[in-house]
Amino acid sequence: MVEMRKPVLVSEAVRLVMEHSYLGGTDTIPLEHTYGRILAEPIIAKHDVPSFDRSPYDGFAVRAKDTEGASGDNRIQFTVIGEIGAGHVATSGIGPREAYRIMTGAPIPDNANAVVMLEQTTEGKDRFSLRKPFSEGENISFKGEDAKEGELLVESGAFIHPGTIALLATFGYATVKVAKRPIVGILSTGTELLDVSDELVPGKIRNSNGPMIAAQLTRMGLGYKSYGMQEDDLDACTEVVRKALIETDVLITTGGVSVGDYDHLPAIYERLGAKVLFNKVAMRPGSVTTVAVLGKKLLFGLSGNPSACFTGFELFARPAILAMQGANTPYMPRMQAILGEDFGKPNPFTRFIRAFWEMTSEGIVAVPAGFNKSNAVSSIARGNCLIALPSGTRGYTAGTHVDILLLGSEQGVSEWVL
Ligand code: AMP
Ligand code: MG
Repeated sequence: MVEMRKPVLVSEAVRLVMEHSYLGGTDTIPLEHTYGRILAEPIIAKHDVPSFDRSPYDGFAVRAKDTEGASGDNRIQFTVIGEIGAGHVATSGIGPREAYRIMTGAPIPDNANAVVMLEQTTEGKDRFSLRKPFSEGENISFKGEDAKEGELLVESGAFIHPGTIALLATFGYATVKVAKRPIVGILSTGTELLDVSDELVPGKIRNSNGPMIAAQLTRMGLGYKSYGMQEDDLDACTEVVRKALIETDVLITTGGVSVGDYDHLPAIYERLGAKVLFNKVAMRPGSVTTVAVLGKKLLFGLSGNPSACFTGFELFARPAILAMQGANTPYMPRMQAILGEDFGKPNPFTRFIRAFWEMTSEGIVAVPAGFNKSNAVSSIARGNCLIALPSGTRGYTAGTHVDILLLGSEQGVSEWVL
């Protein structure tokens, strides 16, 4: 008898996976290797930024009160008493109608409280004249205006991107505490599978899921352990999964999770004593997507169908792997787009359509990326987003507003909203 599986909603499946995603542990690594990692400590300003009042322009540092009454008819003359380049400090303060020539980034000398931009002066060699008054603080980049000492600037769990690295460098973090990354294994199952370099023979197909998942992990900045391809042999497969679980924190398998005669993953989970969180999700493609846990280890049983496999990874494996690192924005960003063409199929389950979005004169338009069945591979290649159509809806006509989930954005969002 074919086993009856109870589908869980996508949101429930996401919740279940995230609830079981915890790894813990940190690495302290050199700043230059932190791009793409998850911060395991908050960035708290160690000092004011800037740490001294400085000039944001090339110009002259003056006392505002000396500029009072300046106009086209009443030019006020200043004497230049020295020059301050970035990285240097003035040797003295300034007196009445004196000025320092000052460069961008240089500290404001004592007594000065305004900067006159070079373009606003009529310049002589050691003198210049002004045609307008300046107020106190004008054109000064103040100590602490960017960040105040002790201020929480970036929370632990943030994705480290180039901007984060700039901030870490500002505060002298030569090394940074980041979350440990899980070790992820990939195993492609199916007697029909050939290697990428093999010639096609009748009944066989090349393994596209293995390289695809590897690249999905690479896109997340993660390495992986490949367990290659396994024929649909229960004993042999069980042994590979058992070995992989010793060596990895997360094992992603493709194929063999359905209810066919050669779909052995359910039996393998049972043999290994893994707890199945769900084995059917109310979604298309990928309704057979299965997630199981064994201790702290996660097993993602993705469908062999390429589009389903791809979608299962993005919806469940990706946020879980990020959550294992304590990431606080693990989900794909969502936007609204105008559906670019009719999509006639009814949607008994939530449907994820590989699609291409772009900004047009009408706004953001998303067009399904071609042949969109769960076994499609071409539409994955053309898509840059997933259109998400809620369950219980009929066909959609072009022009309707739809939700889209963005693929490949390095910074996600903190909540699953569909
Ligand atoms: P399964 O999930 O094992 O029932 O496989 C579903 C479909 O996906 C079948 O048509 C398989 O031939 C195909 N398939 C399974 N594994 C892969 C793979 N690694 N790469 C591409 N297609 C696959
Ligand atoms: Mg199979």
